[in-house]
Amino acid sequence: MMAPAARPDTLDLIGNTPLVRLRGPSEAAGCEIWGKCEWANPGASVKDRAALWIVRDAEARGVLQPGGTIVEGTAGNTGIGLALVANALGYRTIIVMPETQSREKMDTLRALGAELVTVPAAPYNNPGHFVHTSRRLAEDTPGAIWANQFDNVANRRAHIESTAPEIWRQMDGRLDGFTCAVGTGGTLAGVGLGLKEQDERIVIALSDPHGAALYDFYEHGELRSEGSSVAEGIGQGRITANLEGAPVDRQFRIADEEGLDWVARLLREEGMCLGLSSGINVAGAVALGRQLAAERGPEARVVTILCDTGFRYLSTLYNREWLVGKGLPPFGWLA
Ligand code: PMP
Repeated sequence: MMAPAARPDTLDLIGNTPLVRLRGPSEAAGCEIWGKCEWANPGASVKDRAALWIVRDAEARGVLQPGGTIVEGTAGNTGIGLALVANALGYRTIIVMPETQSREKMDTLRALGAELVTVPAAPYNNPGHFVHTSRRLAEDTPGAIWANQFDNVANRRAHIESTAPEIWRQMDGRLDGFTCAVGTGGTLAGVGLGLKEQDERIVIALSDPHGAALYDFYEHGELRSEGSSVAEGIGQGRITANLEGAPVDRQFRIADEEGLDWVARLLREEGMCLGLSSGINVAGAVALGRQLAAERGPEARVVTILCDTGFRYLSTLYNREWLVGKGLPPFGWLA
């Protein structure tokens, strides 16, 4: 196998992530399930791509000036991506995060030199919600831009222009389905639009955690949520600008227990340590794979996103007491 080409700049390390066949999920689905290793980005998540595109877009529009500040509200991963990109380009970052997110993400942000502001978790219609707090902070900071990942479509453009063409090339132009969960919707909409451009027959599916409202939206046309999830970075209650026009053909609702089971199996049987949104994506890929295997045969191929590294959740998912406290079954090997 050829090593990736040498790159002239650290920002060129974002994207061009490996795609790997997932053995257990393929067996369970009866067709091929592949995972795009977004944890292999420099900031260890899929959000590095959105961060780079948002910053480059702000520069191109002339709203982000040399030495300027980037402010964002985030579950953490976008903040980590923005902090890395900002360091490489000479900007300052201020990151607003809900207190409920993992300690590892907060420690990482501080270590990268971002200024971290934490706020209590609040519903979106509460002015104290992390997104609104970050917008106000950007307005009050001279020379600052608000990255606005939820409604800034430079986010999904990252996936139209990089993730989708990479998947298409890596699959040699033969692909039947794609699925992932939604935080901002940038990945689902962007990869979906990019892949449909290549082949209309590729089925695009939403994998929604409990507590999110999108499953019902795509199923019945009504935003409605029920239950909850401990997955970080996913679970949306509205149609963001990034989601508008997303070519969603099918939808699955995935329970945390099912996602956790795939996280455990991918770690113990295939040697990959992932976060829960990846587990939920893989569970969705298996569900979609079973349908496509029945419709198109065992050669059907489904791709999903392995969003971030499990090392980011050692104090939560990989901590027995934490999981038990959330009423979830801890991993069997964590005595
Ligand atoms: N998984 C994780 C761990 C994330 O941090 C995010 C981003 N919030 C997502 C999935 C969802 O990605 P997107 O914002 O593109 O919908």
